[in-house]
Amino acid sequence: MDSGIPFITIPDSPAEADPEEVIPAEGLRAILDNLDALVYVSDFETYELLYMNAYGRRIWGSIDGRKCWEVLQNNNSPCDFCTNHLLTDHKGNPSPPHVWEFQNRLDGHWYQCRDQAIPWTDGRLVRLEIATDITQRKEMELALKEAHKKSQAAALEDDLTGLHNRRAFFELGNQLLKQCLRNRSALAIIMFDLDYFKQINDNHGHDAGDEVLRYVGQLLKNNVREADIAARIGGEEFAIVLSEAGVKQAADLAERLLKLMGETPVRYGDIQIRPSASFGISMLRREDHHLDTPLARADRAMYGAKALGRGRVSIDA
Ligand code: GH3
Ligand code: MG
Ligand code: MG
Repeated sequence: MDSGIPFITIPDSPAEADPEEVIPAEGLRAILDNLDALVYVSDFETYELLYMNAYGRRIWGSIDGRKCWEVLQNNNSPCDFCTNHLLTDHKGNPSPPHVWEFQNRLDGHWYQCRDQAIPWTDGRLVRLEIATDITQRKEMELALKEAHKKSQAAALEDDLTGLHNRRAFFELGNQLLKQCLRNRSALAIIMFDLDYFKQINDNHGHDAGDEVLRYVGQLLKNNVREADIAARIGGEEFAIVLSEAGVKQAADLAERLLKLMGETPVRYGDIQIRPSASFGISMLRREDHHLDTPLARADRAMYGAKALGRGRVSIDA
């Protein structure tokens, strides 16, 4: 199909053009067909494609008087993301070029599109799009975003156990605390510290100690509800926030965890280790506005359990 673009002039106003600087139609076609970008022109009203350069024809085939949405998107009707309405102002005059990015459904590539209303050879305004392939850049951007998301998630996870880390414990726990205060519902906190853990390291090595910590992490994952928050908040210290749970429910869970530690040993090579822990439990009070406060009470109760001989559950009075 004929390009319909007979001449291009370097100066802004064709009236001032120096004939020497006028590019003949063949030269213009050669330039457009050798561009490393899609260039097309379509009618505002009928969407008929009036021109598409060789770059576009190589990817989307010939235009043959077909409409832009048929050729470029294989649609049955105008695209829901068509930008035509953005290209003229309320008086129908051309607006500044509209630049945007999108992924073509037919070839899956990402394009940066520069859309503009321009006067056509017969005086009507038409749509001109120049689109450059930005797939590589976009894929790098998406990979970077994904990596960023992963590192953010990692910043909230305890590497060794896969539980929430101390930071996540406070961030998520304080959200839960506020919700419970608003709803006037109960919230329980369990804190526990492994007993004589230093001896495990001393007797069997640091790696054996790590294996015990992983085992405790798994124990928590298996026994704590999805809505609760289980975290490793220190070396061999763990904490659980239980939403909508009373003191009995919390004590039952702590007793269960303690029992499981004694019943199912951790295997490390040829040896078996039966860890033990001291538990402290506290309940949220209306005057608590930060997780620090009930956690400190659970910590105090936990030291009470240590003082009474370890391997037991103590409740904050
Ligand atoms: P208690 O019953 O009074 O709690 O005695 P304990 O030995 O558990 O307490 P202590 O605070 O004396 O020792 C805690 C030990 O935990 C010391 C430290 O080396 C060890 N520890 C802390 N973090 C890690 C870890 O990530 N891996 C291993 N293997 N050990 C750790
Ligand atoms: Mg400790
Ligand atoms: Mg300890």
